[in-house]
Amino acid sequence: MKNIEVYKFGGASVKDADAVRNVLRVLQRTATGKGEVKKVVVVSAMGKTTNALEAIHRARYNRQDVRPMIAEVKQLHTAIAHDLFGDREEAKKPMYAMLDAMTEQVQEPLSGDFDRDYDQLVCYGELISTAIVHAFLCESGLKSAWIDARQVIRTDQRFRDARVDWNRSTQGAQALADVLEKKDFAVIQGFIASGGLGVTTTLGREGSDFTAAILAFMLDAKSVTIWKDVPGMLNADPKIFPDAVMLPSISYREAIELAYYGASVIHPKTVKPLQNKNIPLHIRSFLNPLADGTLVYADAAHDADVPSYICKRDQVLISVSTRDFSFVVEDNLRDLFEILVALGIRIHLMENSAISFSMVTDHDAYKLEKLYAALQAQYEVRYNEGLTLLTIRHYTEAVLTRETAAREVLLEQRSRHTVRLVVREK
Ligand code: ASP
Ligand code: MG
Repeated sequence: MKNIEVYKFGGASVKDADAVRNVLRVLQRTATGKGEVKKVVVVSAMGKTTNALEAIHRARYNRQDVRPMIAEVKQLHTAIAHDLFGDREEAKKPMYAMLDAMTEQVQEPLSGDFDRDYDQLVCYGELISTAIVHAFLCESGLKSAWIDARQVIRTDQRFRDARVDWNRSTQGAQALADVLEKKDFAVIQGFIASGGLGVTTTLGREGSDFTAAILAFMLDAKSVTIWKDVPGMLNADPKIFPDAVMLPSISYREAIELAYYGASVIHPKTVKPLQNKNIPLHIRSFLNPLADGTLVYADAAHDADVPSYICKRDQVLISVSTRDFSFVVEDNLRDLFEILVALGIRIHLMENSAISFSMVTDHDAYKLEKLYAALQAQYEVRYNEGLTLLTIRHYTEAVLTRETAAREVLLEQRSRHTVRLVVREK
């Protein structure tokens, strides 16, 4: 294992000049002195920049004048740079270069491939933010290198959801490791990669965590830390469960399970490469960098310490039965699943009985209308809207009694570690 750690700073942690100053503080506070561990610093676009660039991209395809929107993105970044650097123009130069490149990009004619053009524009969020962060670290006396992620991470050309080509990425990773022989920090964009031939790709929204995992895997890093504005991973959404507590440690496997049930923790894509090489993942608060936070690693000893609650709101329970009271059998299910796949409907829970099949899905009026229309000829379809799907991992009887007392339960599924309840909030 190399003496390298990967840090990831998301949009909220670089949303303004003070936030960028705080990134420096985090790097300084967590420095261990002599024999210092080298750090790869993965940075997202600042604040809501990715959303703004997405809006610009859509507006371009709607043939709208995007100049005012571009001006806003420029204004946001130049204001942050001015706050950080004052009149020291030299430090702002790399940022100006990126802003100019972004402006040129929007003047390019559209290719007609919506997703391809999206990646060519939206990548600027990360390119600009890293230009600023890197310049600020250098000004502050840190030995930092700016790395273009597109020289490191190679992917296919599935735009907006590119798949990593691990083999072709190793060369870039080696170059990155070489840079870290001379520098202490390598500042690199999250989310963006290269699809070859000067074409940019992206790894999907919120993809910067995945970037951190990819780099950690390829560099054999000692650990990954995702810096957040929360103290770590919580066992529930505190907006819904006021007595949510932090999970001090969970296994990779548990993190993947929680994500599957809908916890907005860490994307399974992020966990997998780390699990494969047994690289520990820390989730820590950038406001309190010396606090422990949550550790995600191989050991499952603490997975069952506290129950975790995951709520999916605005769910629909659909029940499909045969019109002639014949059994619902494999043939019916195959037809049904073909329709679901064709419509891109995701099923969160399902259950079958002799003459009916029930499923829970998000309330997407447009898709559901099509689903009902497709089924009506052969089946009787009933549905209940406005429901919540509550999943409790590592439940106890006491927890279950408490949670079901306050709600009307329409459907319940229990396994050894997990209970899932389809409920109507009273
Ligand atoms: N900036 C990208 C997004 O907002 C990637 C990320 O932040 O992880 O989705
Ligand atoms: Mg983000």
